[in-house]
Parts: sequence; C-alpha cells; structure tokens
Amino acid sequence: MKISFAPEDLAFRDEVRAWLDEAYTPELRAANARQAGVFADAGLNRLWHRKLYDRGWVAPAWPKEYGGPGFTAVQRYIFDNELAEAGAPSLPAMGIQMCGPVLMGYGTEEQKRYFLPRILSGEHYWCQGYSEPQAGSDLASLQTRAVRDGDDYVINGTKIWTTHAQYANWMFLLVRTSTEGKPQAGITFLLLDMATPGLSIRPIISMSGEHEVNQCFFDNVRVPVKNRVGEENAGWTVAKYLLEFERGGSYAARIRGMLSRVKEAAALERGDDGRPLIADPAFRKKVAELEVAVTAVDLTERRVISGLSNKRNVGDATASMLKLIGSETQQKVTELALEMCGNYAQPDQRGALGWGANGTVVGPDYAATPTARYLNTRAATIFGGSSEVQRNILARTAVGL
Ligand SMILES: Cc1cc2nc3c(=O)[nH]c(=O)nc-3n(C[C@H](O)[C@H](O)[C@H](O)COP(=O)(O)OP(=O)(O)OC[C@H]3O[C@@H](n4cnc5c(N)ncnc54)[C@H](O)[C@@H]3O)c2cc1C
Repeated sequence: MKISFAPEDLAFRDEVRAWLDEAYTPELRAANARQAGVFADAGLNRLWHRKLYDRGWVAPAWPKEYGGPGFTAVQRYIFDNELAEAGAPSLPAMGIQMCGPVLMGYGTEEQKRYFLPRILSGEHYWCQGYSEPQAGSDLASLQTRAVRDGDDYVINGTKIWTTHAQYANWMFLLVRTSTEGKPQAGITFLLLDMATPGLSIRPIISMSGEHEVNQCFFDNVRVPVKNRVGEENAGWTVAKYLLEFERGGSYAARIRGMLSRVKEAAALERGDDGRPLIADPAFRKKVAELEVAVTAVDLTERRVISGLSNKRNVGDATASMLKLIGSETQQKVTELALEMCGNYAQPDQRGALGWGANGTVVGPDYAATPTARYLNTRAATIFGGSSEVQRNILARTAVGL
C-alpha cells in the first residue's frame, strides 16, 4: 500500500487549500458552525453548492464527459479530506453521489441529457424514497405499489425517513410492480417530480429537534414511464448499484476535523481542578484513543484509494468495514464533545441552531451544537445500513458465504 503523495498530488492539495481560504468565507464558516444535521440546511447548501459548481468541483467523483472534474482517485481523496478537515458544509448526497452515478450507469441518453446538468447546477434537489415503515434493513419487502396505466405508472403507498423531502423537487424511488417470484424480482426504479398531485409530506422531528426526515404519502401519484430507470422489475439491480455509492465516502477527515474542534474547545473549558480540560490526564487519554481510532479509519480509506488507483473495486466487505468503524468512531467523538461541554450540554440550544437562526447560545459559542450533534449522530449507525447489517456482511465474507 502506498500512503504518501506524489509532488503533483501535493500541488493539487495546495490548490484546494488556497481555494478554500478564499471561498469558505468567515460568514459561511459561522453559519456552518450552527449546523447539527447530517447535511447542511437547504439555504446553506445552495450557497456552498454554487461556489463548488462555479469552480467545477461540485461533483468530485463525476467523469469529465458528464461535467465532473475528472479527478484521479488520489485527487478525490485529497479533495474530500481538505473540505472535511476545513469543516466545510456537508452537501446532500442524494443528487450528486447517488442519483447521478445511477443515471450514468443505467439511465437512457435522454435521462442523462436532461437530469445530469440539473443535478450538477443544483436546480434539481433530490431525495431518496427507498425505506418504508415495514421495509428498512429488509428493503426488498417494500410494498409501495405502482400499476401501469397507459404511459404512466400510478403509485400508492408510503415512504419514510425521506431526508430533505421538504426541500427536494425530485425523488428517486423504488416501487413494487410485481408480486410474482422473489420480492427482489418485482421492484422498479422511478424518478418522480415532487410537484406531482397526490404526493403529501409529513415532517418527522428528530430527538435533536431538527426537521431532516419525513414520511411521504402517495395517493394515485402518476409518473411517466419515460422516468423509469432500467427495465420494469429490474429496479433491485439499480438500487444495489446506488447503495455502493451511499456506503462509500470519507469518514476520517471529517472525524479528525470534529476531534480538532473538541480539542480547541477543551483548551478553553476548565476541568474540575480549574485547569484547562485538555490538560486533564483522563480527558487526554480519551482524545488519544480516538486519535488512534481515526488513524485506523484513515489508513483503511487510503488502502481503498490505493486499490481504486490500481483498478480494484472497493468490495462489499471493505465498504461495510468502513461504514462500521467510520460511523461508530464518529459517534464516540460526539460523546467526547458532550462530555467536554459539561453543564452546557443541558440547556435547549435549538433556538441558536440552523440556517438563519438568531437565538442566543447559552454558555460559550462552542456549546451550541454538541448536544444536537450527539443526538443526531445516533442515526449514523442506522442509515445507509445499520451496524448489525454491516456485521452480518462481514461475517458472511469471513466464512465465505
Ligand atoms: C436520520 C435518518 C435518515 C434516513 N434517510 C433516509 C432516506 O433519505 N431515504 C430512505 O429511503 N431511507 C432513509 N433512512 C432509513 C434507513 O435506511 C433505515 O432506517 C435503515 O435501513 C434501517 O431500517 P429500519 O429503520 O426499518 O430498521 P429495521 O430494519 O427495522 O431494524 C431495526 C433493528 O433491527 C436490526 N436488524 C434488522 N435486520 C437485521 C438482521 N438481519 N440481523 C441483525 N439485526 C438486524 C437493525 O440493525 C436495527 O437495530 C434514514 C434513516 C435515518 C435514521
């Protein structure tokens, strides 16, 4: 495994850093410091998306022919890492990281021509309609029904946990088009304009107090057949292809950035003996343990990058391992942040959180988000495949099933 960078990669890293110094303004940094969700709020997303789009870097994994920058695997790693370490806003993954690659792989020429430029520009804001109340880990048991009627499918049923459905103007979704044979064999992948009559959205407020997820209800919602991706009843193959992109991603840099901010705050916070908390041996031990864990995540990511550069696929087991250790280490950092805040973790800070919030933080500025981020990050070991599901995949790989 090669883990050092070539001179041209280091030059690229400097270019990204220089751009970040200019583009990631103090105003954007201040706004992002009040975000606790998985993805930044829509208002902040739009601003940050536009900056990246104007620079040609909004879709780092897209090839040049579709408007991407055509980065090498190493450049992508460097780019993701620099943004994450700078604590840049986390753009929603549903359009650029999920729907885009699926359309490149399975879309018709017409679908690619229409949708890809609009995903890139941010004109289309996507959400993901996979999960249902009775179909999460066991996704193939989904029941939302689509029946063919002339040139349309007519959809009835419900989707749940739909992140940012309240902002999205398009949804990609899985529907049941047949009940014959295996459950996987009767699923179809559709693209839905969210302005279509018959669709309603009910907010779900999470325990951190945020509105990120929703339940969507379909009452005779019509989708033109031309908005089907892949063949009818072949949606499972498309869905699985998409999940590969959902589980990938770089955790280490983001976690390291989070940990740096905990350390900075712990230098200001006083421990029980009146000295800075960061000087407390028990606290330092926890920081050191997390630094070791982040290094392990980072080296695993570099191993993946090294494999990709040599045209080897990530593979199910490695993607599962990364999802598992990445999400669990991220949760541990939010636990340490909570501990660092002490009593300031208790007040309700929601009035000071989110895009455009003007409430006052109770306590120091760094006390605004740790509780909400701690609560929000509990979901990291559920979405994108729960930890138990990842462990099943690893166990199956280990015994060669
Ligand atoms: C914040 C958040 C955002 C989300 N956003 C989206 C979105 O935008 N679009 C979307 O479609 N979905 C979304 N989801 C849904 C997510 O994909 C599901 O929550 C996830 O797949 C788990 O499904 P479930 O909630 O139905 O739990 P279940 O599948 O019912 O699982 C319940 C428990 O049983 C365990 N379990 C299940 N099966 C097994 C097994 N075979 N072996 C061992 N243990 C098992 C699970 O690990 C879990 O602990 C989101 C979820 C969250 C929390």
